Amino acid sequence: MKSLTTFLLLFFLSTVSRAATEPDKDAVWKVGVATTNITPDRPIRMAGYGGRKKPSQGTVEPIYAKAITFEDDKGKRSVMVTLDLIGVVTALREKVAKAVEEKYKIPGHALLLNASHTHCGPAYARDDAKDYFDATAGKIIAAIGESINNLTPAKITYSHARAGFAINRRYPNPAGKFVNSPYPEGPVDHDVPVLRITTTDDKLRAVVFGYACHNTTMGFRQIYGDYAGYAQKYFEQDHPGTTALFMMGCGGDQNPYPRSTLILAQKHGRSLAMAIEAALVTEQTPVLGPLHTSMKMIDLEYTTKNRAPLNYPVQIIQFGNDVSLITLGTEVVIDYSLRIKRELGKRGPAIWVAGYSNLYSGYIPSKRVLREGGYEASRPYKPEVEERIIATTHELFDRFNPK
Ligand SMILES: [Zn+2]
Repeated sequence: MKSLTTFLLLFFLSTVSRAATEPDKDAVWKVGVATTNITPDRPIRMAGYGGRKKPSQGTVEPIYAKAITFEDDKGKRSVMVTLDLIGVVTALREKVAKAVEEKYKIPGHALLLNASHTHCGPAYARDDAKDYFDATAGKIIAAIGESINNLTPAKITYSHARAGFAINRRYPNPAGKFVNSPYPEGPVDHDVPVLRITTTDDKLRAVVFGYACHNTTMGFRQIYGDYAGYAQKYFEQDHPGTTALFMMGCGGDQNPYPRSTLILAQKHGRSLAMAIEAALVTEQTPVLGPLHTSMKMIDLEYTTKNRAPLNYPVQIIQFGNDVSLITLGTEVVIDYSLRIKRELGKRGPAIWVAGYSNLYSGYIPSKRVLREGGYEASRPYKPEVEERIIATTHELFDRFNPK
């Protein structure tokens, strides 16, 4: 009898003490999500291909801005915004970052703006699109506010899978020139990283997923989000009530193949949506806090005399010791993604590299691409460009992951 009492007492105590020291170890997060439709309501000049001199002729699919806010158990917040747009021009970044700092007290280094680089979206930085620019910036700021208002307890896991439709587009022709054509021997990164956000009782709320490939299946004068738009649409249709956010990777020299008909964009979108499904059935890594964020602006110099350097953002958003998201500005070629994963991948957290983040200003070649020449090497950067970016990435990563 005595031993049974002791047993029950010990059992009771152990339950209480576990509850007291580990309140809900999995639910350390609050997460909020919001979606806003940014489809132009009038014909508008289109971004991406220089050849299209006339405005859009309608919409195939709406385009969106989506915001997701993460809050760790100390109340630290980070916001990610994904955009069905060509890129994140400085005027947009500055306007949104200023509002987010003033209204929501979130510093710029904790704010990520990432663009899918769809070539069937508006040329929103043109003077004749000022109405659209202002309306869209307002919608993005409002969506961020909505995602903050929606913050509710959540669990996060990380996993990844693969999708194979991105092919290196730097084909070395017999004359020794690198031309824009599929080159299956060239480097690719087929990784599809996925953050899965669920309620505390494991109901799926959102996924953030990445892929490194141009959204250039089509070049017509109709608005839509290309394969990334379809991937988000299909995943959300297959999981009603969830939000899917596409994070563009270092796809500067990657194209979807085959291309040039709408049905191919849909098929690539379906492939990518299926890769998210595949990631979700693999072993999930629990993602814990705290949140670490940092950003550094560096100058990328040109060989051209007196040409002002490109002021370039490198950012880290790290979730505890589990996932480290490195974001790089504008159109980064795939070598950056592969090298950063190779160099940092064994240090602890899973490495996720996003391109097209916080800045849109032409291609960023690697040392190799710069040496080879071709389309992605059109700006005359000094050969140190790659080392500058990689060294800054290490510097930010080392801050939160001491060696
Ligand atoms: Zn591009």
